[in-house]
Amino acid sequence: MRAAARFLAKHSLLFALAACTAARESDGAHSTSRAAADSAFEIGLIADCQYADADAAGERQYRLAPKKLADCVDDFDTRELVFVVHLGDFIDRDWRSFDVVEPILDRARAPHHHVLGNHDFSVEDARKELVPARMGVPTRWRSFVERGWRFVILDGNDVSLLAHPRGSPRDVASRAWHAARAAGRPEWGGALGAEQLAWLERELASADAAHERVLLFCHYPLRPANGNELWNADEVLDLLAAHPSVAAWINGHEHSGNYAFERGIHCVTLHGMLDHFDNAYAVLGISREQLELDGSGRQPDLSLPLAEP
Ligand SMILES: [Zn+2]
Repeated sequence: MRAAARFLAKHSLLFALAACTAARESDGAHSTSRAAADSAFEIGLIADCQYADADAAGERQYRLAPKKLADCVDDFDTRELVFVVHLGDFIDRDWRSFDVVEPILDRARAPHHHVLGNHDFSVEDARKELVPARMGVPTRWRSFVERGWRFVILDGNDVSLLAHPRGSPRDVASRAWHAARAAGRPEWGGALGAEQLAWLERELASADAAHERVLLFCHYPLRPANGNELWNADEVLDLLAAHPSVAAWINGHEHSGNYAFERGIHCVTLHGMLDHFDNAYAVLGISREQLELDGSGRQPDLSLPLAEP
């Protein structure tokens, strides 16, 4: 049995037992157990589809990306996923690349959310500011609450040397930021700016107060600190660690995948779909007790227990 199926089967059994017990108790206890039963659910995760109509380069099989994405969507459609997240770098380059891959993801039964990646902005300057709208991204950072979980989608290209038209105010500010705080770090990275950090702090305080758990999505890793992480990962980790609601940070960008656990936060880097001939994506089972990553292809399974906040 696949890990996620085991995850839901195990939780269904626990919830069925809880429901039997609760049925003998008061109506209040019964509704509590029903809330628990409703709380286990699954989402789909993809990182770095990164399509371009380009010859393969090293491990990067650009023209296989649409087929891999279609196979992934077919698999996702056999599951009851609440939503799907693509973790950034949906295209490698060229505006017209969106026309090839977006219709494939659009046909998935579950709704999808895009995280913005550095390569998504590898289009001509005049179109950089149109990228979020082209990907159906309503605001560059945002959150939504689903079944007691707050899902936070971050824009790691807020401070970026690639995402803003050259000479625009945000480009000028980003270059000054990089020179002052991230000199020598790769130009294809990024950071969360002050406005986004202030928003994030309010989101986390609100989640703490509501006794929610928080799962964050960003294109860039938070940990491990190996040079690929968000330029201001230390500052962001300090912020997250101060909020007991935070459970995990999930990202793409580093195609070989990774995992770290630091200050009570699971940090998961998904393998990139683009690389090699075989596919990579995952289904994440979510409950208050654990996160269960059911990997397909090159993506390994991960079982991530959650402590009570
Ligand atoms: Zn990237």
